[in-house]
Amino acid sequence: MSVNQHIRPITAERKDGKLFVGGCCLSELAEKYGTPLYVIDEATLRGIAREYKEAFKEYKNIHLMYASKALCTSAVSKILYEEGFGFDTVSAGEIYTVYKSGADMKNVLFNGSNKSQREIELALELGVGRFSVDNFYEAELLNKIAGEKGKCADILLRITPGIECHTHDYIQTGQTDSKFGFDLTQIDKIITLIKNNYKNLNLKGLHAHIGSQIFELRSYSDEVEILIKETLRINKVHNLHLDEMNIGGGLGVKYTDADNPPSVKELAQAVSCAMNKFTNDIPSIYLEPGRSIISTSGITLYTIGSSKQVPNGRKYVAIDGGMSDNPRPSMYQAKYVAEVAGETAGRAEEEVTIAGRFCESGDVLIENIKLPKLEAGDILCVFNTGSYNYSMASNYNRVEKPAMVLVNNSQSDIIVNRESLEDLISHDRIPDRLK
Ligand SMILES: *Cc1c(COP(=O)(O)O)cnc(C)c1O
Repeated sequence: MSVNQHIRPITAERKDGKLFVGGCCLSELAEKYGTPLYVIDEATLRGIAREYKEAFKEYKNIHLMYASKALCTSAVSKILYEEGFGFDTVSAGEIYTVYKSGADMKNVLFNGSNKSQREIELALELGVGRFSVDNFYEAELLNKIAGEKGKCADILLRITPGIECHTHDYIQTGQTDSKFGFDLTQIDKIITLIKNNYKNLNLKGLHAHIGSQIFELRSYSDEVEILIKETLRINKVHNLHLDEMNIGGGLGVKYTDADNPPSVKELAQAVSCAMNKFTNDIPSIYLEPGRSIISTSGITLYTIGSSKQVPNGRKYVAIDGGMSDNPRPSMYQAKYVAEVAGETAGRAEEEVTIAGRFCESGDVLIENIKLPKLEAGDILCVFNTGSYNYSMASNYNRVEKPAMVLVNNSQSDIIVNRESLEDLISHDRIPDRLK
């Protein structure tokens, strides 16, 4: 089974009734580092990274670029760089993080639908290898800034291939009416501009990203088909030699038993079949998985606090975190599963709703889950929180962001410090006239 087909990290096990991940007892981690606590299992992370490398090894020119936006921290970047990954980045902050963690900047791609002048300058100065140009405005701006710096930027063109995949509307990006990329009907115009006017842009190929949490391989075959056909057409019509193709990320993960994502190997086979149908002249391929790389390795530990039995209604049990450390349930109605970390022998099961601590009725982490009867002080472990949790976290209600620890071989190390109250006010200033 592929790592992304597991709900729990691959090292998760119960010993004497207690839940362990990476050889570490989760109740002890909660005690030592406090909660809420993000935990990343290194073996699961390296496991999926190696699966991707193995599955795509038939391609000489495969560029595996981790989509940093799923979870961008220095330690995670370092591990993925060690595993041979490049990085797909979308901001100065992500570019700077991967740069400081020692990544090879030639293997970094800068994406996004509204890159600022400052971000483009930083990317050029740090030697980012590819820009995925999203729109006419950006092409002109990038050409100008590169010109001022006496540089030529290697670019891909982000296109919207017009594919509808069955995923949540908010995380679907490849359909025609999308804020991302050039419509297929605009491609000839932008290419003509690049050829004739933008001397500081060097066009290498096309890029698409059709969505996230994708379960249907058909979406990828269709996408690859469109990208190849379009590349061959452009090469003919514009007399070019584009030989790079970025098929984006999006492979799904298993949050609950209802999710059945394909394996990484099946994804590789689908891509390979679609490619072979059209051309033997296989171009350089870029892949940008985010969620499927980091999701399964992450869990979040919370401490149970208050509870409320609504008369003739549900029972709410509250945790010490919620929508500020994991906004996905309130944003996308995302589903998660959880277990009690400690030993629960002898407790009867009961159906409860896990409520967050934040001042929003929508701050509910898990609705109607059967768990051993919870008591205040229990540690709840929520699975598959590695992606789009910390990276989307906020300080709503002026709550400090949790710490993150990396576990491996019974060892645990802090990789992100817990925010302190001082951190929270460290950017505040009171003007003199109010003093
Ligand atoms: C978000 C994004 C990804 C990663 O998507 P996942 O679903 O996390 O794999 C890859 N490429 C682009 C352009 C993206 O916007």
